[in-house]
Amino acid sequence: MVPRVPDYQLILAVPPRTCLEGRAGRATVDSMADTPLPEPESERLAALVGNGSLRLAYGLLYRRRNHPPTEQEMSFFLATASAETPFDQVLRGLREYFDIAAVTLDGQRRYRLLGWAGRHSKSELVPISPRLRVQALARGGCALCGRTPGQHGVVLEVGLRVPPEWGGTNDPENLWGLCEDCDSGWRQYLQTYAPYADRISRAANYPEPQRRIGELLKAFDGAWVPSDLIGIVASAKEFQEDYQRRIRDLRFLGWEYKQEKRYNEGARVKVYYRLVRSARWPDNIPAAIAAEERKRRQLKPL
Ligand SMILES: [Zn+2]
Repeated sequence: MVPRVPDYQLILAVPPRTCLEGRAGRATVDSMADTPLPEPESERLAALVGNGSLRLAYGLLYRRRNHPPTEQEMSFFLATASAETPFDQVLRGLREYFDIAAVTLDGQRRYRLLGWAGRHSKSELVPISPRLRVQALARGGCALCGRTPGQHGVVLEVGLRVPPEWGGTNDPENLWGLCEDCDSGWRQYLQTYAPYADRISRAANYPEPQRRIGELLKAFDGAWVPSDLIGIVASAKEFQEDYQRRIRDLRFLGWEYKQEKRYNEGARVKVYYRLVRSARWPDNIPAAIAAEERKRRQLKPL
């Protein structure tokens, strides 16, 4: 069965349920390479590395980054802590996530923790703790097709709605549970935007939704941008229930754009936007929009 490509318009129409207290730690993707390594006792580490022996060994490597331990010291340490996993397995497990170099210092082979393992995709390095996983699955069914494990026998996988490559974080609002069909459909859908990944992630990084949208339109240099892509980028930092309104906000800032509806691209009407004129961003974007809105309302004839 070929999974259908999820309809982003529909997804945006159904905001994720967020009955969550507290916010999870954020790990934005652009900064991932520079993201500090997790502290040994942290939830971040536990979310990445479940195995207790691995976490213990990581703690030793982390604390002794400047004076790397030898294999003997590591093995002794693990045995003292009654760790069950042997050293070579521990090392292999940790190297899945971390760059651990074998170096010869003082005539001895030592292990130095250097940073994150490069071969891992950024998405794997945005940790989703068991607690976040449970919260994301609380709605019961697949976030796109609604099928449930109980009734339809589907397996739900928790993933990021806005992908990490575009600035999506492990914020609860950005997590959802998808069945395998929808998950692979969603990946295919995102893949169609892969050629624009750099431009998209730059735009997605701004704190204000209006600016994310404006910069995205600018990045496409006057070419038509599909509205569902705008919806994703608008929601990159926090979910936007009404991203069309955020597009309209740009008009209060002196921006001009054109809108076009296309009826020949599949089952539903597709809307595209194209930038005509941009303007300089004010220091306080929400305040500037509110002020302009007030002004225009007062000018309206009664
Ligand atoms: Zn599904």
